[in-house]
Amino acid sequence: MIFRKKILNSSEEQMLLEAIKEAENKTSGEIRVHIEYNAKGDVVELCKKKFEELKMHETKDRNGILFYLAVKTKSFAVWGDEGIHQKVSQDFWDSITNLALLHFKNGNYVDGLKSAIYSCGEQLKTHFPIQADDKDELTNEISY
Ligand code: CA
Ligand code: CA
Repeated sequence: MIFRKKILNSSEEQMLLEAIKEAENKTSGEIRVHIEYNAKGDVVELCKKKFEELKMHETKDRNGILFYLAVKTKSFAVWGDEGIHQKVSQDFWDSITNLALLHFKNGNYVDGLKSAIYSCGEQLKTHFPIQADDKDELTNEISY
């Protein structure tokens, strides 16, 4: 049997869900987190695939963002849908990824994910401010 330590306890999960909620209170954009323990392959490709699998393109403004953390290889990727991708540069995605990886290196998964959520929240807020009729188009979830 393989022993797998859960990297987030339930109060840490709660903290991240709060961070997502806080970010989404200022934008129509949608944020989710996926954590994979034994991911194999290119993490950006995996993130893109998961984005499609979770049907995260089903937003009016195509402004969903998925964070993908591969625990075993300590690798991380961000996939932003075409609406938000058109508004930011590749440098932005790279800087988020690098900052999160710095935290992960030290075992700070919560801080790493939180920093990514906040940074994306700020960009989403700038380009897709919250509307009066905002819907939570994608439920706030951390999937495994
Ligand atoms: Ca929304
Ligand atoms: Ca949401």
